[in-house]
Amino acid sequence: MTTRIYFNEVVTRDGFQMEPAFVPTDTKIALINALSRCGYAKIEVTSFTSAQSIPMLRDAEEVMGRIDRVKGVEYTVLIPNLRGAERAMETRPDEFNLVMSTSETHNLTNLRMPREKSFAALREVIDRFGDRVPINVSLSACFGCPMEGDVPQAEVLLWAQRFADLGVRGLTICDTTGMAHPRQVAQMCEALRKQFADLQLTLHFHNTRGMGLANVVAAVQSGIDRFDGSLGGLGGCPYAPGASGNICSEDAIHMLDAMGWDTGMDLQRLLPIARQLSEVVGHEVPGQVAKSGRITDLHPVPESVSFK
Ligand code: ZN
Repeated sequence: MTTRIYFNEVVTRDGFQMEPAFVPTDTKIALINALSRCGYAKIEVTSFTSAQSIPMLRDAEEVMGRIDRVKGVEYTVLIPNLRGAERAMETRPDEFNLVMSTSETHNLTNLRMPREKSFAALREVIDRFGDRVPINVSLSACFGCPMEGDVPQAEVLLWAQRFADLGVRGLTICDTTGMAHPRQVAQMCEALRKQFADLQLTLHFHNTRGMGLANVVAAVQSGIDRFDGSLGGLGGCPYAPGASGNICSEDAIHMLDAMGWDTGMDLQRLLPIARQLSEVVGHEVPGQVAKSGRITDLHPVPESVSFK
């Protein structure tokens, strides 16, 4: 029996949030509607942060209100705080995705508060809404912090346990700035599966240093069956301008398909959507398979070749 792998597409949230040019609301909706028919288990649609902090996602309500809800796809949204949760609740999301960092410095830099304050704010959201909507918590910088360096595995497990104790449904372990390597990933995944056997565990990798897909293999071989990915590999890192961002969904899916895993994804449908992405954002994107084609897309033998 082939293990089923579940993909969560994050391009319209994690991918778009760093983009300088606003992507029109209609374009976002059309993209999500197209992605909804490709076999994703989940789509992270948008973020309910303030319009000032992320102007790109200022149309969160409208996007959530107007997308088609395709059966079998869960539509999740990023929630920074109670105010965001109240706004999001009106749009009937299938999940809240809460986020904080496991590195104190990274949390102070990104969320402008100490981790304990973030935890308290997120606990409020869980207390208020946890009985009405499933909660996932994304923990950032779990494999290293670009300012502090090492983030000990024990530290990650500790924060994960604090949220598990609050009754969350799932945890996403994020390599926010692409510092993870496959051996570290295998160790982390084994520890996570042991400690949180009942939770939905998702791994979120970045390809900042070219280790993204190797880390996916390490995770999948350690029994992880859920991954975040971003179409075209969109989504950079504010500390490394020009660096590639999230792992590319279609490249990861293509690789796992080739290895015989069941991703449930329709690459035939997904690749044309990926090929339009550079037009949507107005620049090249890092994804490889959309450019080179699948390994099964063979080229004709040149006429000059003779087999005699
Ligand atoms: Zn990311």
